[in-house]
Amino acid sequence: TNKIIAIDGYSSCGKSTLAKALAKKLGYLYVDSGAMYRAVTLYFIRNGVPLDDGRRVAEALDDIHIDFHIEPDRTWISLNGEDVSDEIRQMYVSDFVSEVSALRAVRKAMVAQQQRMGADKDIVMDGRDIGTTVFPDADLKLFMTADPKVRAERRFLELERKGENITLEEVFENLAHRDYIDTTRQESPLVRAADAIVLDNTDLNEQEQLQFVLDRL
Ligand code: C5P
Repeated sequence: TNKIIAIDGYSSCGKSTLAKALAKKLGYLYVDSGAMYRAVTLYFIRNGVPLDDGRRVAEALDDIHIDFHIEPDRTWISLNGEDVSDEIRQMYVSDFVSEVSALRAVRKAMVAQQQRMGADKDIVMDGRDIGTTVFPDADLKLFMTADPKVRAERRFLELERKGENITLEEVFENLAHRDYIDTTRQESPLVRAADAIVLDNTDLNEQEQLQFVLDRL
């Protein structure tokens, strides 16, 4: 049967960096579940979908089609055919994504698509509820943490490199805001699965993190 590695944790803990490295090393497919919630959020913002209107939310979800495109040098995500890989990383999306992700109907739709992707392929998926809800029987579960200041600094440098006009404080606030909503929401909140291995990468480089996981496979 196919193998599944689930990586969960707080915002900007280096989940996707590790997940990508693992997928490459093992020849698994990498799926960034957060990108899917970001794409839904972008659609909601563009179309002014009111979060408290169940009918409008359901109609929006019916209209949303998200796909991952795997090319030799990069993987990109499309929203109804449009490449939104860069747009979904913008701060205005980050500032609203946790509110959208807290909606039950949104989670239901995303989890169903994620489970289909992992039905017959070896995959590494990162997110907030992968080991608890999407793949409770995953072969390996990791729960990543890191010092909040270190996380904010890493993300700040990344956004700065991309030319985003932003301060370290704004990044810190956004991470704290998302972590708060993600851990306190009703619908599959961010929590460590009982059988997840904790990986605190505050003082670990990428090679050390990769080795940490490979040693546990
Ligand atoms: O992983 P990333 O930080 O890009 O995720 C953006 C947001 O999407 C998270 O802060 C969270 O609100 C939401 N998310 C989620 N469940 C997932 C992945 C992401 O609720 N599995």
